[in-house]
Amino acid sequence: AAAQKAATPVRRCVMAQDDCLFCKIVKGEVPAEIVREGERTLAFRDINPQAPTHVLVIPREHVRDAASAAAADAGLVDEIVREARAVAESEGVAETGYRLVFNTGSGAGQTVFHLHAHLLGGRGLNWPPG
Ligand code: 5GP
Repeated sequence: AAAQKAATPVRRCVMAQDDCLFCKIVKGEVPAEIVREGERTLAFRDINPQAPTHVLVIPREHVRDAASAAAADAGLVDEIVREARAVAESEGVAETGYRLVFNTGSGAGQTVFHLHAHLLGGRGLNWPPG
């Protein structure tokens, strides 16, 4: 079992889309500051942080958005939320509170069409969001 595990590349992108920025980050073709690697997920710092902690948690496989993930594989969304909690703990924002955001569709501000949870913390967060 150990040999089998060693043979599995740490970074892989199932059904990678050639033109997808986040698939390229998963494959290591575009650099990112990775904070956590999960079996099915990757977490890295947002390039344009909106809070002291702003981490994106993404599936390794290409899924367009939260709506398609929920329809195709509800377990994947669970995994992203679990990984986000682990990142919140390691970033020291779990106690004070943090926000998870899935922008879904361009009208809601989604600009990268590879599912990602924004994990925001480390400052007071207003409600409603802008
Ligand atoms: P969306 O607007 O789709 O919800 O979020 C996309 C996020 O990806 C934005 O917050 C944006 O700053 C971030 N982003 C865009 N390009 C890059 C990149 O090349 N590297 C990293 N780390 N984040 C990026």
